Amino acid sequence: MNYKPFDPVHRILMGPGPSNIDPRVMKSMSKNLIGHLDPEFIKLMNDIKGLLRYAFKTNNELTFPLSAPGSAGMETCFVNLVEPGDKIIVCINGVFGGRMKENIERCGGYPIVVEDKWGSPVDINKVETALRHNPDAKILAFVHAETSTGVCSDAKELSNLAKSNNCLTIMDSVTSLAGIPIHLDDWKIDAVYSGSQKCLSCPPGLSPVSFSEDALKIVKNRKTKVQSWFMDLSLVMQYWQGGSSRAYHHTAPISAMYALYESLRILKEEGLENTWKRHETAHLELKRGIENLGFSFLVDEESRLPQLNAILLPDKIKPYEAEIRSRLLKEYNLEIGAGLGALSGKIWRIGLMGYGASLNNVKTCVNAIKEVI
Ligand SMILES: *Cc1c(COP(=O)(O)O)cnc(C)c1O
Repeated sequence: MNYKPFDPVHRILMGPGPSNIDPRVMKSMSKNLIGHLDPEFIKLMNDIKGLLRYAFKTNNELTFPLSAPGSAGMETCFVNLVEPGDKIIVCINGVFGGRMKENIERCGGYPIVVEDKWGSPVDINKVETALRHNPDAKILAFVHAETSTGVCSDAKELSNLAKSNNCLTIMDSVTSLAGIPIHLDDWKIDAVYSGSQKCLSCPPGLSPVSFSEDALKIVKNRKTKVQSWFMDLSLVMQYWQGGSSRAYHHTAPISAMYALYESLRILKEEGLENTWKRHETAHLELKRGIENLGFSFLVDEESRLPQLNAILLPDKIKPYEAEIRSRLLKEYNLEIGAGLGALSGKIWRIGLMGYGASLNNVKTCVNAIKEVI
């Protein structure tokens, strides 16, 4: 068997992630490998932590990228903060809220579900009622940007409610980080996880996380050991925190860290606020183009995510939607996302994430869809 070199074509990635990456990020991964405890690498780790604090708008000391994808970030938050018997209020308005519930159950927690329709934001009034009926709830968990539906929920208001009821918060920011405003400290979020391959425009495989002092108190005062050795923060911390003496926990994916560092440098150069604005501008241009073609949006205007556009498919297109997506990929090297779960066959998900949130991409995408349909 002759195994040829693998040479993937250049695709325009406009699905729900991964997104395209800046050539600078691509190049960074071909730099010399150094050891994961090399003083030079430890300096890089510190710089990455600083840049992540900038991206999350937080001063949390424990802010770092986990060596694993966003799903592991989710799991890390739950396994460290939930102990058997804990009551957790979890908001479900799409796929990822459902996964949070699954995590709570696997930790032996007791989920109180606040459910909303797919395509709607989390209903603040329902959460308020749930908090009132469950004064002993320990944590409120919600997804800021639901990638399965393109909905943004009001993180600030949700956290406000949680705090005034003595509840901690866990927020999924996998798709929101760097795409729409996050003010971690102002909003008083206690635990947050994200992913490298969405609006940060990095290869997949890293999950930036951040924990407040209150969250760390919970971790320190646990009655039981964290069920996962790899995700136990008290162990991981010894590698990511402290001065120059770092204890080996696992071998960090060194080259992936180079990529994350470069993408965060790009974010800082452009400026967080400008990056948010660029996503908004690209979204408005996509909206204009796609509405001209006769499509409409699943989500009401005020809760739409600029970086994830859920487009309703007209009845006459539905039977051909998979074929159209496959033609876009084959003939235009353009990837857009299908609907998930209940929305399968009913929507397309067009991502405008990070490096891909450009007017050029919007034009390419709208023209390609126009030609194929
Ligand atoms: C993509 C995504 C995840 C999972 O991230 P992976 O890197 O695929 O594990 C979790 N939550 C949301 C909202 C996402 O969009």
